[in-house]
This record gives sequence, C-alpha cells and structure tokens, in this order.
Amino acid sequence: MADVVVVGSANVDLVLPVQRIPRPGETVLAGGLTRGPGGKGANQAVAAARAGASTAFIAALGADDGGSLLRDALGEAGVDLSLVSTSDQPTGTAIITVAEDGENSIVVAPSANATLELSEQALYAVREARIVLSQLEIPFGTVQAAAAASSYFVLNAAPAAELSDELLAHVDLLVVNETEAEAVGGPKLSALLERVPAAVVTLGAEGAVILTRDAAEIRVPGVSVEVVDTTAAGDTFCGVLAATLAAVSTTGPITGRDLTNAVRRANVAASLSVQTGGAIPSVPHGEVIDARYA
Ligand code: ATP
Repeated sequence: MADVVVVGSANVDLVLPVQRIPRPGETVLAGGLTRGPGGKGANQAVAAARAGASTAFIAALGADDGGSLLRDALGEAGVDLSLVSTSDQPTGTAIITVAEDGENSIVVAPSANATLELSEQALYAVREARIVLSQLEIPFGTVQAAAAASSYFVLNAAPAAELSDELLAHVDLLVVNETEAEAVGGPKLSALLERVPAAVVTLGAEGAVILTRDAAEIRVPGVSVEVVDTTAAGDTFCGVLAATLAAVSTTGPITGRDLTNAVRRANVAASLSVQTGGAIPSVPHGEVIDARYA
C-alpha cells in the first residue's frame, strides 16, 4: 500500500507562447506549441514520488495518446498507476497561453477527469494511506468520498472555489494560495481556522504561512531565487508537503513541529521548481531538495 495517495486530475498541457493574452474576440498567433503531461493531480503525484514517498495516483485518463503521455511520465517518476482508470472520455486537456510578461491564461477541458469515481480498490488504498492529497479539478463528490475515507486528508483547494462545510469537516490540512484562501475563508487568513483545524497559505516569492488552532501563526520566508517559470510551483509544494508528512506520520500523530518542518521542505522544493521551465520537468528530486534544505 502507498503512503501517499493522490486523488486528482491529469491533463495534457498545450502551451502556446504569445506576445500578449488575446482580448475577447481577438485572434493572436503563438510563437510555438509544446505538448506535455500536467494537471494538478499528476504534478502533485510526481512531486510526492520524487520527494521519496511511495505514491499511488487515482485518476481517470482517456484511451488516447494523451493518456499514454501521462502514463509514461508518471510511471517514469515511480508513481504507482494501478488505480488509474481508463474512461470512455478523452484525456483532460489544458490550453495555456503564456505572454512575454509572464502572465498566463488557462482553459481546462476536464473530459475524463469529470468521470473520476472511487472504485472499491481505490477506496481501500485511500483508507490505508498515511496521507491522502486531493485538489478541485475532479468531481466534488469524488473529493468528498476520498476525504471521508482518509485518516489524514490534505486538500489543495485549487482552482479557487467556495467549499461546503460537509467537505471541510473531513479536511485535516488545507493548502491554498492567497486567492483560494479568500474563496474559502474571506479576506482574513485567520478565518480559515473557523472551517479547518490547520491551513497553509502559500505566498509566492514570500514563502508560506502556517495557521493552526493551538499555536501562533508561523511564517516560513520565501527562498530568494532567479525565476524562470512558476508553473507547478504550488503543485510541487503540495506534493512535497504530503510526502514529508507521510514520512513523519510513521512514528505517531503529526505535530505542529512536523508540519513546520514539512512546510519548510516544501518551500525549498517549490523554490527549486520555479528555476526550471515546464510542469513535471521542473519538479525536483528528493536529493536535490535535501541538499538545499538541510
Ligand atoms: P502556481 O499556480 O504558480 O503553481 P500557486 O499560486 O499555487 O502557484 P504560489 O503561492 O504562487 O502558489 O507558490 C507556491 C510556492 O512556490 C510558494 O509558497 C513558494 O514556496 C514557491 N514560490 C513561488 N514563487 C516563487 C518565487 N518567485 N521565488 C521563490 N519561491 C517561489
């Protein structure tokens, strides 16, 4: 059984570099086209596996080229794919335009991701995992079922959405950026603790802040680096956080100190990911993270 189970999306990313993002009704020409594996679930599963955790992925792919591309990339990273199902829908696709000033716009066709449900075997893996990690690019009902069956459930509430109390009642740790934090708790970060027992809010170059009900808020400063491409920084953060928590939870319940150490490691890993282009190619390996983190 895997220590970390990621229940989430897998997409083929079609990346189009443009001078600027087109306005409504406008057509622009792209300077090229690259096609690569992505999707929040897939990126986070790769990040957890590369950080050293035995990781299984629960996802739905199409019986198409995109599905093979994702299977190859995830398999190469050492992710257990035995619970990945094949849908009658095509593999999810994200169309990403990236402007010269670094701004981007993303449209996702969920396709197979929208059909993801938990099989009996998937539910068993979720129940047995030390850490279950999910995001919001798959049906809410599937996230809810995973949350209810998990012993420690980490929700990366991305893309931003309003969330039900029914789902949040099963969340042990919420990980959000500032926009997502506002969608869940409103403008005041501390309001998140009225809905979940612990939260980590990522602050881009500024690092992250940890909020727990029984201790003062802890700021983990950002690592100052040359930024090449921030794609999958948040996903690297979540995957490495889950992998690091899975390693400590072998010795007992997760403490505030364990959470702080895991956030520090995730912050170092995410700062490494922004120094390389692409999604999955930019996700660092454990040895590289720990050479900086120690
Ligand atoms: P993305 O959507 O780009 O993947 P996000 O919006 O989910 O990211 P951010 O808060 O922007 O999340 O970044 C996540 C983490 O990545 C930060 O907490 C930090 O550790 C790291 N990070 C992001 N940007 C930078 C940067 N410019 N310099 C150093 N670290 C960064």
